[in-house]
Amino acid sequence: QAKAEGRNSYRFFVTDMNERISRIQRIRRELRQALRSNEFVLHYQPQMNLLTGRIAGVEALLRWNHPVDGLLAPGDFLVIAEQGGLGGEIDDWVLRRACLDAMIWQKNGLQPIAVGVNLSPVRIGTLRTQELITTVLHETGLDPSLLELELTEHELVDDLDAAARVLNQMRLLGVRLAIDDFGTGYSSLNYVRSFPVNRLKIDQSFIRNLRTDVNDAAIVRNIISLAHDLNITVVAEGVETVEQLTHLAGEGCDEIQGFYFSRPLPTDALQAMLRRELASTHLG
Ligand code: C2E
Ligand code: MG
Ligand code: MG
Ligand code: MG
Repeated sequence: QAKAEGRNSYRFFVTDMNERISRIQRIRRELRQALRSNEFVLHYQPQMNLLTGRIAGVEALLRWNHPVDGLLAPGDFLVIAEQGGLGGEIDDWVLRRACLDAMIWQKNGLQPIAVGVNLSPVRIGTLRTQELITTVLHETGLDPSLLELELTEHELVDDLDAAARVLNQMRLLGVRLAIDDFGTGYSSLNYVRSFPVNRLKIDQSFIRNLRTDVNDAAIVRNIISLAHDLNITVVAEGVETVEQLTHLAGEGCDEIQGFYFSRPLPTDALQAMLRRELASTHLG
């Protein structure tokens, strides 16, 4: 009996593995097509300034409008894209799309807001990235201070010196830099020391149990105070409840991002939100 079960679960395992492998192969093929036929879209998640209650900026989040599977999040395909060598092309597309959209919002008469773009740590230190950012800013005419690069701690930057050179060049242009998922990664403090950082984004894993876990609360309090000692701003990610918001406001956190304030929105919905805010400013 036990033996039969063991064999069965082994068979399940193999079937599962085979399915997974062929799924990955299929996605890899489809990703090339996706780039050609414009199946990627950016959604924008607003960040709220806790002092003013207003939209402080947005983060661009990649989505794949898959012809059969529907709207996919980066977790469904980004690693496969990177492994398939498509990461650079996707970075190009995201950066260009985000800067173009930010210009479109302004041309539509909306308030200028900063747009955050996630860049892969693998390429952040390359000359190609530097050229790409410079070219896109030039082509779109976006004010460089409205572009914020987000560097995640989840993957390692392998050449710190090269990355620092590129990021310092970007800073000279006025481009801003945020450390994403702060506190969870490989080198939190080393990044802060090596790079021209403008903002820390506290990882959502510290926010989730903020109200009940005294360790998380202590970590969050100390990240906020570190940011302020360094004269940079701090954003809490993954804020889902008013209790979390109130707690963070009490700790002096500058901004929040999360489902409580808004989910990531397609560009039209974001523009509608900006328009409502603009209208309420004029009335108030
Ligand atoms: P991230 O940069 O830390 O982005 C925040 C993630 O948290 C997003 O997931 C967002 O939808 C999600 N989120 C926002 N508010 C809440 C909340 O209140 N609760 C919860 N549970 N989640 C929330 P998403 O869009 O699935 O992106 C996942 C990750 O994929 C991002 O994490 C980022 O590291 C990466 N990513 C997204 N877009 C791009 C891109 O264009 N290029 C690259 N290289 N990476 C990207
Ligand atoms: Mg991010
Ligand atoms: Mg994050
Ligand atoms: Mg993340």
